[in-house]
Amino acid sequence: MGKEEIDKLVKIWQDFAGLQTDDKFFLNPDMKRVEQLAKGVLDNEENHGLKFCPCRITTGRFDDDIKIICPCNFRMQKTWQDKGECWCSLFVKKKS
Ligand code: SF4
Repeated sequence: MGKEEIDKLVKIWQDFAGLQTDDKFFLNPDMKRVEQLAKGVLDNEENHGLKFCPCRITTGRFDDDIKIICPCNFRMQKTWQDKGECWCSLFVKKKS
């Protein structure tokens, strides 16, 4: 995939973070990291059919795998509570 597709996905993530009315998280400001993750998600889409998380492994069971389509419900996960980041550090918690 090309830079254009990566940029498009990054823009979607920026918009998603910007929609959060409770203002609790944002996209990781490390754009190199974000672009690597976008590439991983797009690779997964090409190889596995859906935009799966680049940091986790699909099981082949739809009910489980649907939970790791990006963006996932990362704010419900322990990693978010402990580290203030999603599994891949794509989204990070705002410091209050
Ligand atoms: S952990 Fe982060 S990168 Fe992975 S699916 Fe969830 S939001 Fe996306």
